[in-house]
Amino acid sequence: MPERPVAPARPRRAETREPRSEGQWALGQREPLNPNEVFKQADDGLNVRERIETVYAREGFASISPEDLRGRMRWWGLYTQRRPGIEGGRTATIAPEDLDDEYFMLRVRVDGGALTTEQLRVIADISIDFGRDTADITDRENIQFHWIRVEDVPEIWRRLEGVGLSTTEACGDTPRVVLGSPVSGVSAQEVLNPEPAIQEICRRFIGDPTLSNLPRKFKTSIAWLADAAPEINDVSFVGVEHPEHGPGFDLLVGGALSTNPRLAERLGVWVPLDEVPDVWHGVIQIFRDYGYRRLRHRARLKFLVADWGTEKFRDVLETEYLHRSLLDGPAAPLPDQPLDHIGVHDQIDGNKYVGLAPIAGRVSGTVLKSVADSAQKAGSGRIRLTPYQKLVVLDVRPEAVDALVEEVSAVGLEANPSPWRRSTMACTGIEFCKLAIVETKARAHTLVADLEERLDHIELERPLSIHINGCPNSCARIQTADIGLKGQIVTNDAGEQVEGFQVHLGGGLGLDAGFGRKLRSHKVSSAELGDYVVRVTENFVKQHEPGERFAQW
Ligand code: SF4
Repeated sequence: MPERPVAPARPRRAETREPRSEGQWALGQREPLNPNEVFKQADDGLNVRERIETVYAREGFASISPEDLRGRMRWWGLYTQRRPGIEGGRTATIAPEDLDDEYFMLRVRVDGGALTTEQLRVIADISIDFGRDTADITDRENIQFHWIRVEDVPEIWRRLEGVGLSTTEACGDTPRVVLGSPVSGVSAQEVLNPEPAIQEICRRFIGDPTLSNLPRKFKTSIAWLADAAPEINDVSFVGVEHPEHGPGFDLLVGGALSTNPRLAERLGVWVPLDEVPDVWHGVIQIFRDYGYRRLRHRARLKFLVADWGTEKFRDVLETEYLHRSLLDGPAAPLPDQPLDHIGVHDQIDGNKYVGLAPIAGRVSGTVLKSVADSAQKAGSGRIRLTPYQKLVVLDVRPEAVDALVEEVSAVGLEANPSPWRRSTMACTGIEFCKLAIVETKARAHTLVADLEERLDHIELERPLSIHINGCPNSCARIQTADIGLKGQIVTNDAGEQVEGFQVHLGGGLGLDAGFGRKLRSHKVSSAELGDYVVRVTENFVKQHEPGERFAQW
């Protein structure tokens, strides 16, 4: 029997359509696809500096154009603050101009977390003179001032730049501050100090207009010890010994948190120190050229890495950007608990370094000035900020340690803090952030005091980390905390809508790298937060096996 003729298959609907543009420049997709891409194409964010200096600082807040105010000023570290008195949870219905205060948050980038005492003094004076004595240490080793007036910005830049600091690309769709190890150059565990690579990247590429219009922010970590959160940066270099070639760096790409968290993945290569800047440049150019620019929430490198896979990513890096092959390399070792460097530790040169804990990064100009004074008295000229919102005084003479520890304790910085003070972090929250739903910094203060009192009897093998976010973004890295707290409005036992948190349990970095479990039933009001953490901690202490970590429990 003859076969029935087969009608040619009709192309399915999806096959007839042109694939939707994701705004990938390398594919010729230059049409701006969202309002951010439109304003970035219209004028480079870096160009706003001139307008700030020549117009806005002279004519005041009202003279700032909306696109500069809510867009380009970020390229110079400036965000408008939340207008005081606006409740959390209803900001989506408020017009931007009603949400904006006339004051700014100003972020100072501190690449590698490295400051001299002279630089710290300048930061302290700016805080006192222009920022109502505010200064927060962020978990990206930045300093953030609040209450800044646009009229004062040129003078602030003059002072910062006079000591080699800047706010260039501290925010915006740019290469953000480069995280480094707080103990680079002084740690006995470090085989190769990567500071020269951090400095070269900053010198060559920060403020470079060819890299100032990225799809979104681009975060970097470069540290021999894996103590600068390499798992959750867009690009990370972590120290590793190659069996034949010696010390160099393992390269990871595509890590980030926020609403679709993803851990960075190894490309399986070994990068010698002097090649780190060029390899970094290759990775950021891939992001610029191939990164997705249609939807803001998909415009991070992690989405490209997820779609391409590491094999293709490495191939594009080698063939299109570096024009050579990279050497295969082994995986870098990871620490079994966060290296926060709190306390008094030996340096390789016989001096000591002293890690100090404020609560959740909140300090002030006055406190920072005291730290600079005490550090200098102890023989030190160097301070480091840490990715845990803490600070470390380097190069302390051994005989001067006790006096330093006592002096800084008097201004609220502890070298031997409780586990709760040591491991609690908080983002900016409703006090200043326009996206916030709940209070965070003040909450961290009351929580730490509460836990210090109520859990004083408990001995933990290692501190439990508590990270507090004011909204579903993840500026305080809630997914990688033992107890992560995501700010939201919750219903309390009396049926009222109140400030509270969705809990994520069991996240971590290092050997425990992974994201906490979001337990739907674990929602807690701010008022009950202390009770909740006490309950979880006591249960963990009772139930865990010896040596079992919270993330494994
Ligand atoms: Fe603001 Fe949310 Fe980030 Fe906190 S997590 S600083 S509330 S955007």
